[in-house]
Amino acid sequence: MSSADFANKLSASHIRDLVPYESARRLFSGGHYWLNANESPYANPYLIDDSHFNRYPDCQPPALIKAYAQYAGVEANQVIVSRGADEGIELLIRAFCEPSKDSIVICPPTYGMYAISANTFNIDVQKAPLNADFSLDISALEAIAKQDNPPKLVFVCSPNNPTGTRVAQQQLAQVLTLFAGKSLVVVDEAYIEFDIDSSWAKSINQYNNLVILRTLSKAFALAGIRCGFTLASSEIIQVLLKVIAPYPISDPVAQIANQALSEKGIAQMQRQVSLLQQYQQSLIERCQAFPNWEWVGDACANFLLFRVPEKQELMDFLVKNGLLIRDQSKQIALENCLRLSIGNEQENQALIQLIEQFYEEKQS
Ligand SMILES: *Cc1c(COP(=O)(O)O)cnc(C)c1O
Repeated sequence: MSSADFANKLSASHIRDLVPYESARRLFSGGHYWLNANESPYANPYLIDDSHFNRYPDCQPPALIKAYAQYAGVEANQVIVSRGADEGIELLIRAFCEPSKDSIVICPPTYGMYAISANTFNIDVQKAPLNADFSLDISALEAIAKQDNPPKLVFVCSPNNPTGTRVAQQQLAQVLTLFAGKSLVVVDEAYIEFDIDSSWAKSINQYNNLVILRTLSKAFALAGIRCGFTLASSEIIQVLLKVIAPYPISDPVAQIANQALSEKGIAQMQRQVSLLQQYQQSLIERCQAFPNWEWVGDACANFLLFRVPEKQELMDFLVKNGLLIRDQSKQIALENCLRLSIGNEQENQALIQLIEQFYEEKQS
């Protein structure tokens, strides 16, 4: 038997047909300009104390938990820290869903990892696609809530990736009530710093089925350290602590995250967020001026989505010139849509210049 056949035959049956996640990073490794993964363009400096690297770290570093709880306005026992929000998604699925029996709900077009994570644990994925205006389809969710075996988790992303839209407070309140006593409603707030007044963090005392995902990967400019947080009632956090690895957060990660969450770190993040928001406004104007470009969704996060008739030709041109953006056209309702992350001034300018060059070359 060949090694490939052997590995394939031995693998779990629900894993056999899966393909590794096509992260923005895996899709294209070259390029000088990366506007494809909603990362921050700012690489901020940190100090590292290497005097304890011979010791295992705390599972949940107390100073870090305290700093994040304070930042988010919740109690320390309502926070768990993990390797990015992606691990938070996985912990929720592992802790609450029974393989080949339970399901989760996603509201596409949305972030891909909810379904991918569920697939790796043999958990069914139900879909309640967003309405044409990207609001939640409340009647579809209502029907799902009435099922005999209701889903364990309902993932709602706000601001939503890749549409940049926020879910109205009143809609989310409806969803929390629909699933009360049945399912956890997981609000993914990965981009909440770009829309801070819309956070649901302050409501976890009010709803015992509310879970919030957060990350340092986006506004805090720390995608490389892999650090995210899940906020929920202390009872839900206790369940998640049963399944998390013993040492998920390495010592240097905790040190860097603590500095990012200091008063100085938060102020710096807020300055960078408002700069990115200014750049975003001017990109909206510039991009809407391109021939037949249609702005899709909203500007509640650090990216923009446009429907572009020549999407494939343009993507190929940008890749050839070393600038990467993300094709979202495979998602429900997003035919010909491209997502542009907001970069620094130089990156945004390179983007606009290359697109102008694309249309000039097409004309000649
Ligand atoms: C980027 C992103 C995440 C993942 O964040 P990490 O903390 O880097 O794992 C989660 N949810 C959404 C919607 C994202 O866009």
